[in-house]
Amino acid sequence: MTKEEVMQFISQIKKDYSSFEIKDEDEYQVWKNALMRLSKDVVLARYAEHKENTNYKKNPPDIKLFLFSEKESIKNKKFLMKCEFCGKIAYYDAMQKHMERHNSIRYMKTKGEKYFNHSMSPERENEFLLMKQDEFDSIYYNFLLKLIPLTTGLEHEILINIKFTKENPGIPLAVNLNETKKLFE
Ligand SMILES: [Zn+2]
Repeated sequence: MTKEEVMQFISQIKKDYSSFEIKDEDEYQVWKNALMRLSKDVVLARYAEHKENTNYKKNPPDIKLFLFSEKESIKNKKFLMKCEFCGKIAYYDAMQKHMERHNSIRYMKTKGEKYFNHSMSPERENEFLLMKQDEFDSIYYNFLLKLIPLTTGLEHEILINIKFTKENPGIPLAVNLNETKKLFE
């Protein structure tokens, strides 16, 4: 980050968190040193990830968030990846969720064409991609329910299992949900 980007970024944190403060010039120097070693993409991705975590919604980011060494980063899966489909940059864990989202959208798109003669517009696809997790999960689940009477064989079994799991949380699945999702790809 450049000095200007650091200043902009710090004022963004102040806007987002009223409790965030940098006490004196020394502390500012520590932030500046840490942030200037990182690229803007990395800083913004770490910050976005911090804010996405519900536990951290009320807590301003700590300087430690920006002090990971490369070695620690890999061990803690704190490395950035780029999505081959849309170019989004995210950390390993967030990227797993992001890829899952792409897979779910692709599934809805394919099945929508097959069973409902409905083609998903690129705008709608992008909307699904950016949608909050809860909202997307609910739309996706309702779509899967609609497919149950239309599907046969293994796919049908899998959808029944997903419904069963959703309605009976805590009861082990006959088919592993993550494995079954892979079958949809
Ligand atoms: Zn993507």
